[in-house]
Amino acid sequence: MKPKIIVVGAGPAGLLAAGRAAQLGADVLLLEKMQRPGRKLRISGKGRCNITNTLEMPEFMREFDKKGRFLRPAFSQFFSKDILSLLAKLGVEHKVERGGRVFPASDRAQDVVDALQRWMLGTGVKMQTEAAVRDIIIRDGRIAGVVGKSEEHAANAVILCMGGASYKGTGSSGDGYAMAKTAGHSIVPIRPALVPLLTSDHAASRLQGLSLRNVEVSIWVGNKKKAKSRGEMIFTHFGVSGPLVLRLSRFAVDSLAAGEPVELVIDLKPALDHAALDRRLLRDIDAHGKRFFETLLGDLLPRKLIPVCIDASGIPAKCPAHQITGEQRKQLRVWLKEFRLKITGCRPLNEAIVTAGGVNLKEVNPKTMESRIMPGLYFAGELLDIDAPTGGYNIQAAFSTGWLAGNSAAQENARP
Ligand SMILES: Cc1cc2nc3c(=O)[nH]c(=O)nc-3n(C[C@H](O)[C@H](O)[C@H](O)COP(=O)(O)OP(=O)(O)OC[C@H]3O[C@@H](n4cnc5c(N)ncnc54)[C@H](O)[C@@H]3O)c2cc1C
Repeated sequence: MKPKIIVVGAGPAGLLAAGRAAQLGADVLLLEKMQRPGRKLRISGKGRCNITNTLEMPEFMREFDKKGRFLRPAFSQFFSKDILSLLAKLGVEHKVERGGRVFPASDRAQDVVDALQRWMLGTGVKMQTEAAVRDIIIRDGRIAGVVGKSEEHAANAVILCMGGASYKGTGSSGDGYAMAKTAGHSIVPIRPALVPLLTSDHAASRLQGLSLRNVEVSIWVGNKKKAKSRGEMIFTHFGVSGPLVLRLSRFAVDSLAAGEPVELVIDLKPALDHAALDRRLLRDIDAHGKRFFETLLGDLLPRKLIPVCIDASGIPAKCPAHQITGEQRKQLRVWLKEFRLKITGCRPLNEAIVTAGGVNLKEVNPKTMESRIMPGLYFAGELLDIDAPTGGYNIQAAFSTGWLAGNSAAQENARP
């Protein structure tokens, strides 16, 4: 008899789980609470969807820190090349950008959502939208179905793919955690990962709107450097954001919650070491000795940074370049290499690109994605306690765990 499988949530994890289970002959019902599937996928990568990354599997796994090991069986079954070849069969070609990030060639996330929806429906999945699931049904110690808006749906297996708890407007409002708890699972406390950071310094608000490209930023907790990254950041009314800051924010959130001091140190001239930067400053001073310090800075810094630099260096704006002392030059050099911002907090969970924490991985079998506690219950995607930096890793993890969950649920429950 065909196993009856219910998949809850039509994000990347749910679309793949449902399609794969139906491909293997299961009778699959996909329940999605929003009007349309894949709302978060649609806005991912600023509407371009960074589908995956070209990193090889070992390096790819490392992006998830220690939890990467949990993903090995899922990645071994369905990895970047698999989603890209599935998408190519569906007419979505891809391109690779800096850092191995893969996007649809059309730059349209919508194309990815449409293609996966077409594929999933083509495999025979029945999908109901505006069909929020309220609870799971447990009978005789195993999963027996779900409670929908107004009716119950019986099933041999249920795959929860309800995402994390950020950008609630996309439908991912954290409903899955309560259902996992009902089944007896523990939830690793959820918190923002990849989130803009707040600064105490009024320097950030003075710099509002300024975008810095190709800077190197390190994050310090107390007197320990936690991580360093190069790229682009922006200053906002509350503090700092942009790809570089989001990437580093993972190292700040837990420390801030623990009350530890966190600082960002921006190297505005990462291509020059201290000696080379000093030679450059001396060259500028020699060539334009009569220029005011503020004018000299015009060649070194974006306009908005100049008053902040003047304040921090202590060199008067109208000081002629040739009067700048060796000590002042050193102070300037140190500021250019170590522009410090004290971090006081992060934006709320709802503004996080990814939710850290979730269903405890120790309670899920990584080879099948089945619960070790509740037979017939499976998990996939961001609902699990996995998160990685930006770069296409999170969506790939959702695709891979979704595929594996659909595969296992169909095979396990097809047994006589
Ligand atoms: C702005 C933004 C940009 C991002 N860009 C990228 C990127 O470019 N690359 C990348 O790798 N990652 C990116 N991410 C992260 C990535 O989108 C998520 O990690 C990924 O979508 C998680 O997939 P998922 O299937 O687990 O959950 P989701 O995509 O969140 O899908 C969960 C689905 O479950 C549904 N649901 C929830 N509760 C219920 C319920 N009770 N009943 C029925 N349905 C329910 C929701 O409506 C939703 O459709 C981005 C995230 C954001 C917010």
